[in-house]
Amino acid sequence: MGQPRKRTKRLSRKVYKTPGARIKTKNSRRKFASARCAICNAKLASTSAGRKYSGTLCHTCTETIIKYRTRVAGGMPLNTVPIKYQSFARR
Ligand SMILES: [Zn+2]
Repeated sequence: MGQPRKRTKRLSRKVYKTPGARIKTKNSRRKFASARCAICNAKLASTSAGRKYSGTLCHTCTETIIKYRTRVAGGMPLNTVPIKYQSFARR
């Protein structure tokens, strides 16, 4: 068994044979999964802060949410907004 600090799920582990027929393990860092949209699960291109809902929603969903938020603020009842957008349109 390896060193205690290397017995973790944080590292991905690869077992390989050396030319001298010894078995060794290689530990390397796992790559993180890319950020995804909270509504449609699309991959996000960027998570930098700048636009509203950046790092949370894709551009298509952001556009839709902004439309619904404006309509709700103007008097449209919230229950006419599609369910998947309601939690964002309420705020
Ligand atoms: Zn989306």
